[in-house]
Amino acid sequence: MKIICIGRNYAAHAKELGNEIPESPVIFCKPDTALLKNDEAFYHPDFSNEIQHELELVIRIQKMGKKIQKQFAHLYYNEISVGLDFTARDKQNELKQKGLPWELAKAFDGSACIGKFIPIPTAPNGIDFSLQKNGQLVQVGNTQQMIHSFDDIVSFVSNYFTLKVGDLIYTGTPAGVGKIEIGDTLEAWIGEEKLLHCEIK
Ligand code: ZN
Repeated sequence: MKIICIGRNYAAHAKELGNEIPESPVIFCKPDTALLKNDEAFYHPDFSNEIQHELELVIRIQKMGKKIQKQFAHLYYNEISVGLDFTARDKQNELKQKGLPWELAKAFDGSACIGKFIPIPTAPNGIDFSLQKNGQLVQVGNTQQMIHSFDDIVSFVSNYFTLKVGDLIYTGTPAGVGKIEIGDTLEAWIGEEKLLHCEIK
């Protein structure tokens, strides 16, 4: 399986990092070794002094496809969870300045924390999701704030990558990213349902 991630998909987050809002989605990938599941702890790596949490909705591909038209995109995913796109922000800033790829800052072991999957809720007012750090609310989002919708993203990325059953798409973070420290507890929800628990060690 592969992990595909979308950058700058919420205007308020692009702004907090001083980035422009892109016309087409910003895409990067993580290897399967990045996946952190079943509430496993995240071990803080020693190559960074600024690992940040990015709370994201994650959809799982349920049907193989390529060059998927937007109107059919919804047929290719049916489950959703919350995930944390752990980012070594200090390293990323260094790489960005040099115009280098982001993998060392984004694709390291454990950098794709993932919660329990549920069927995609029907939500006329968008899907709400949230993150608490040590019991304090730090990030909230709603799908209506997304620049590129799930269908846009599935259609766009499938022009470049064949999507396979089990592939995960991290769909971007809303504002409120922040530094994690050893000893922190991160918990994330979709609506009222807690789907993710992660201790930082
Ligand atoms: Zn992200």
